[in-house]
Amino acid sequence: MLVVLLPVVYLVERLRQNAWTNGKTLTVRAYCPNKCCCRGWADGYFANGEPAQGKAIASKFYPFGTRLHVSGYGEATVKDRSKHECEVFFGFDPNSSCTPHEKALQWGVRRVKVKILERPD
Ligand SMILES: [Zn+2]
Repeated sequence: MLVVLLPVVYLVERLRQNAWTNGKTLTVRAYCPNKCCCRGWADGYFANGEPAQGKAIASKFYPFGTRLHVSGYGEATVKDRSKHECEVFFGFDPNSSCTPHEKALQWGVRRVKVKILERPD
């Protein structure tokens, strides 16, 4: 039985890895650091303890420190927790006339390619 199963396990693992090398299409939501998106969690910090600013990703599955590339958003690190697989964060940007929440609304919910660039040790 093991002789039959091993190649199957190997193949599934290969496919899984390939899926990540080429990117995986996920439903990606967006959020801002304020109460409108974070409710009671809006304390100015991500779940990993870093200040809620810049670019970041929240996820249900990927551990803190995972570097991802989200098509249309760019590279960012998983720093926050979400009930969804992937959410992109929009923080305050002094060079933009839009509020973070407006940017999150502009993003809306998109089906885009997500690639793992680096996993935490
Ligand atoms: Zn918001």
